[in-house]
Amino acid sequence: MTHSGTKVLITGGAGFIGSHLADELLALGYHVTVLDNLEPFYDVSFKRQNIAHNLDHPAYTFVEGDLLDSAFLNEALSGPYDILVHLAAKAGVRPSIENPVAYQESNVRGTQNLLEFARAKGISQFVFASSSSVYGINPNVPWRESDYVLQPISPYASTKVSGELLGHVYSHLYGIRFIGLRFFTVYGPRQRPDLAIHKFGRMLLEGREIPMFGDGSTRRDYTFVGDIVQGIIGAMHYSGSPYEVVNLGNNQTVSLSEMIRTLEEVFGTEARIKRLPEQPGDVPQTYADVSKAAALFGYQPRTPFREGVERFHAWLTSQEIRQLAGAAR
Ligand code: NAD
Repeated sequence: MTHSGTKVLITGGAGFIGSHLADELLALGYHVTVLDNLEPFYDVSFKRQNIAHNLDHPAYTFVEGDLLDSAFLNEALSGPYDILVHLAAKAGVRPSIENPVAYQESNVRGTQNLLEFARAKGISQFVFASSSSVYGINPNVPWRESDYVLQPISPYASTKVSGELLGHVYSHLYGIRFIGLRFFTVYGPRQRPDLAIHKFGRMLLEGREIPMFGDGSTRRDYTFVGDIVQGIIGAMHYSGSPYEVVNLGNNQTVSLSEMIRTLEEVFGTEARIKRLPEQPGDVPQTYADVSKAAALFGYQPRTPFREGVERFHAWLTSQEIRQLAGAAR
């Protein structure tokens, strides 16, 4: 199927996942507009690097601005757009515990602003980045969307639950099809520096001690960013029902100890580990049942963990990223 010329607005498109999505959509012939406020949650030079190669592309438009500013959105984003992919958010579980109100503002009011924007502009397909964290400490793994017992344990997770629920309201009242995608720990090239694989990888390169929270038995369903992008594109074209919430994971779990061992093997360095107590807000395990995504839009994660870590390592040790990291220090 060709979607050449389809107009897509991506919020947060200068970030980790959004910039990969933009690259893939441009390669497939879509027209891409990115809205991003380049917030300094992590070093902005990474975000500038993520978008630099597209700035001269004739089918790519970058708009720097905040989704909380409705007047700006209406003025700067004239459209029309066929599909809106809303990835912009304050991300990160631990910082949300320090600053819960800012997370609420950006992720809940920001999402509602954007739903209002979609309504005003007549955008009928809205894909939303939710998170596996909505399941929280629900012990019934693998987690299924049909399990309505959400037990979030961080302010960040609660903002994602709120986003999903707002989406239901707008799909019901205003006919905006809303697909909430619950991403499970995404990793790969351009991964956010605050996330464990990136943080630990850099520490290994610099010979620093790695902080290990807990005894290493916590488990994560790590999902390669290229697989997530395929899932997002599937959701962009889903038309079966007005509202869905769908897991995008890898359907396999890796313990923290195994993750560190894989990094050691791929980086060719032995880790020095500093054991620390478990962190509040961290869940013991995440594990996705992905059969719904497979049934609805043919989602099939293909990247084994080791291969994904190798691709991350190649990016982290590339000359341009070494230079960026050096300049940031
Ligand atoms: P990221 O921080 O790299 O990207 C988010 C982008 O949104 C950033 O470039 C940021 O500048 C922008 N942004 C933030 N607030 C904004 C605002 N008010 N207005 C305009 N732009 C704004 O994060 P990511 O890892 O690419 O995550 C993308 C989405 O996926 C987020 O919604 C995140 O919560 C969700 N998610 C990510 C993961 C993961 O493992 N990376 C897991 C679950 C869910």
